Amino acid sequence: MRITVIGTGYVGLVSCAIFADLGHQVIGLDIDREKINKLKKGQVTIYEPGLETLFQKHLNSGNLTFTTSYKQAIKDAKVVFICVGTPPKKDGSYDSKYVYAAAKSIAKNLKNYAVIVIKSTVPPSTTVKVKEIFKTHAKAKYDIASTPEFLREGSAVNDALHPSRIVLGVESKKAEQVLRLIHKKLKAEVLVTTPQSAQLIKYASNAMLATKISFINSMAIICDQVNADIKDVSLGLGLDPRIGQSFLEAGLGYGGSCFPKDTWALIAYAASLGYDFNFLKQVDQVNHDQIDYFISKIKKAYPSLKGITLTVLGLTFKPNTDDLRESRSIVLINKLLKLGVKINVYDPIIKSKPKDILTNVKFFDSAYLSLINSDGLVLATKWQEFKDINLKKAKRAMRNPVIFDARNFFNPTTIKKQGFTYYGIGRS
Ligand code: NAD
Repeated sequence: MRITVIGTGYVGLVSCAIFADLGHQVIGLDIDREKINKLKKGQVTIYEPGLETLFQKHLNSGNLTFTTSYKQAIKDAKVVFICVGTPPKKDGSYDSKYVYAAAKSIAKNLKNYAVIVIKSTVPPSTTVKVKEIFKTHAKAKYDIASTPEFLREGSAVNDALHPSRIVLGVESKKAEQVLRLIHKKLKAEVLVTTPQSAQLIKYASNAMLATKISFINSMAIICDQVNADIKDVSLGLGLDPRIGQSFLEAGLGYGGSCFPKDTWALIAYAASLGYDFNFLKQVDQVNHDQIDYFISKIKKAYPSLKGITLTVLGLTFKPNTDDLRESRSIVLINKLLKLGVKINVYDPIIKSKPKDILTNVKFFDSAYLSLINSDGLVLATKWQEFKDINLKKAKRAMRNPVIFDARNFFNPTTIKKQGFTYYGIGRS
């Protein structure tokens, strides 16, 4: 099957590689010329475990090609996936302009029947507008469908090859058949529903996961007041099969390009329907406050924060990705800078200061170098590399042996045995 993927970011590029691997002829299109030039030359533009191998394999096999030309990308496509970004606007609603621009370009270039699939995370109102765009601009027949994406950055390739479920939001039998066919080789439960339900399934999933995180962070604050350990509380809670273990890890709160934006968008979408989604607003508020809660722990450890140096280990919003969008580490750093703290940073993937952000921090090539003369280590992202850190060497490098474990990543007993003062979250 000839498949076109519009937008070659985290979701689009992984989708390109996966569909090529399933045996389809895939064209990836982006309006970012620089990105497409790199992809054509065989340079993978994002860091995602396992992507490089699949990408190279199918670039060489000819199953995967790239273009910036809508004319070329749409002409023979049977299925067109819209995977463009849906970033948040100031009022929390999502910015629809990329989806509508992509829809218009597809419609204008459509020569034969194709299933147009919105994979970007959008509310149901978007489908209505996309249909209007096609009605105005398309000369050929089409179906509009929605298949939300559930992959997680850091394990995106594996998630896309072994999805928890495939949700097909369709309005015709023909579109359902085409979409079933292209996903045939994937072993996962297929749920066929309307595009509206499909889109709400995606928002509900992310809002539920965000809720679990804010809930456990609230429980961690209680644990801090009594002789309780949130790790044990999470374990005992998650052993109930009705609840499950996942997303019950206390920390700095949720970040990344999806959970914050999708909870805000759902709140804004509900408001547009006349419903005040107060519950989800509280989930967001807890998430917002969690950084200040963590900083209150740091404040207690020093007579004054002015002029001290803290080393932040981990900048990306989670391990195994290079994505910095809505990274909690960056929010934390910016707040600490405002309090007069000097910041050293080490991240296994981000080796130099990202453009336009974090103007006043020092970047280092290794965790040990970043710890020299530091007054405290702040573990902000759970990169495996940090688990293996040589504590003796770290202690020798530091001015003050203090560890703030914002992800409850370390074993407090081991840390304390090495002569460090340890602060976790919800570990009394
Ligand atoms: P991204 O920002 O990494 O990539 C978007 C790409 O779209 C960019 O390369 C951009 O240049 C391109 N683009 C923008 N307008 C275009 C146009 N008119 N024509 C062609 N290309 C255009 O975004 P992403 O993280 O891949 O997310 C894409 C969508 O998938 C979003 O709606 C997001 O919420 C959703 N999603 C993301 C993830 C994730 O983990 N990143 C997971 C599930 C769902």
